[in-house]
Amino acid sequence: MGTTSDTPAETADAIAERHREAAADVVPDTLGHYIDGAFVPGDADERIETRDPTTGEVLAAVPAGNAADIDRAVAAARDAFDDGWGTASPGERQRVLSEMAAVVEDHQEELATLEVLDTGKTITEAMGDMGLVVDHLTYYAAAARSVEGDTRQTNDLFEREKQVFTVKEPYGVVGAIVPWNFPLLIAVWKLGPALAAGNTVVLKPSEETPLSILRLMALVDDVVPDGVVNVVTGYGEDAGAPLTKHEDVPKISFTGSTEVGREIIHNSAADITKTTLELGGKSPIIVYPDADIGEAVEAAMMAIFFNKGECCAAGSRLFVHEEIEDQFLDAFTEAAAGMTVGDPLLEGTDMGPKVSGEQVERTHGYVESARESGATVRTGGGTPDDEALSDGAFYEPTIIDDIDHDHPAVQEEIFGPVIETFAWSDEATVVERANDVDYGLAAGVIASDITRALRTARRLEAGVVWVNHYNDVSAGQPFGGYKQSGNGRENAAEAIDEFTQTKAINVNLG
Ligand code: NAD
Repeated sequence: MGTTSDTPAETADAIAERHREAAADVVPDTLGHYIDGAFVPGDADERIETRDPTTGEVLAAVPAGNAADIDRAVAAARDAFDDGWGTASPGERQRVLSEMAAVVEDHQEELATLEVLDTGKTITEAMGDMGLVVDHLTYYAAAARSVEGDTRQTNDLFEREKQVFTVKEPYGVVGAIVPWNFPLLIAVWKLGPALAAGNTVVLKPSEETPLSILRLMALVDDVVPDGVVNVVTGYGEDAGAPLTKHEDVPKISFTGSTEVGREIIHNSAADITKTTLELGGKSPIIVYPDADIGEAVEAAMMAIFFNKGECCAAGSRLFVHEEIEDQFLDAFTEAAAGMTVGDPLLEGTDMGPKVSGEQVERTHGYVESARESGATVRTGGGTPDDEALSDGAFYEPTIIDDIDHDHPAVQEEIFGPVIETFAWSDEATVVERANDVDYGLAAGVIASDITRALRTARRLEAGVVWVNHYNDVSAGQPFGGYKQSGNGRENAAEAIDEFTQTKAINVNLG
């Protein structure tokens, strides 16, 4: 229990007061569904409260959407597609996306503060998210100009002259379903390529973190034509599932847990709905004996403690070569124990609270079960003992050693600031072990010998491998999972492919 707030003189009341003042400045008052360019009440009266995980206080309440709300939003999106967005020129799509980027850039601090209040991520992390939101929108503004097909030569058995060309066409209405860890960034990972390709969108944010996307829609209301982007808030079962089953939604892009991903595949069967699924992970990092210890510690810290470990790509299984194990683990443990866990609105804070108390309990359950199995908790393993943090969903940065690789805490996604460490001596064996989970989202290799690092990168079963750093998903880099971490890819040109269907037009020139 070594970590404390960097403001030991503070009280829970002082933190709560700071958060109330920030909330008064940034929490939007327009909190209906956003359908056809207007904020509207839900079909039912029920609302969902969203809380600030630092203080436990209610921030706002949004409509608990249902199938009728989804129907309204899909109809608006379909009309907007038919009335012009589906055939809008590349230049028009580029203009809208560029203007969206400019609006976010002008409101970065406001949106970042809202994200801190709703998710518990630090202001530094949230400002980083906003920089990426701007960059991804800018990338797709440019990409709107190059949604292109090509021409092909074909064999004609009768020697007739033919010309085949391909065009990439939008699907129509796309359903986008988003989790709570990067609410605005992941929304934009979907909105950017979907709009660039000429689709209209119905987006369902997580019930835990609906505020930033609603604020964004208010800010871009004059920029995005009515009905092109619609947002329906609500629970997964009541609003998400009807969206995935809707007959006028031929394409779903989902980011979330593997469990819900399975359900979406099941629901997509009836209409053969196309799906892109970005799911969970349990990613390995392999540290070689020639690694620079300081750089390796920095990469491991970024891998597991960035965004409190609430990252699909979090590096949560650490394999350190036995020659440097003691030296590395001592330095890593010291760095983790020295992190400032505290109010995420303060710039000096390294780690804020988890998104909810429920997530703290889930994380702690895994740690307790590891302890019971005989594992060693090198640092962390509980909630901080700082009174000022007692109202929040805080959890300590935690390093677990001496644990069986088959243990559920190693095999399953904890989605918190908890990493398990293992020593290794033989490259083939460590790669086999690194691949020995159901997931395959990401991996890291830390080594000075770049040939060895690249050889290992090629053998890891993962959609992204970072070499000598971790957790960087820049615009222009495809992102997605092998194995049970998903289907398809987000970002870069691959995402345009996910949001278009290819038509081959075969012309008889004879
Ligand atoms: P979740 O699967 O519980 O929920 C994700 C979204 O799906 C939410 O909006 C939720 O309301 C909705 N949903 C729930 N049930 C549904 C249903 N039956 N039909 C349709 N929608 C439904 O995930 P979460 O707890 O919000 O987020 C954490 C998970 O997301 C982790 O597993 C994490 O790894 C994953 N994730 C993956 C990526 C990636 O790019 N691979 C990125 C971020 C998060």
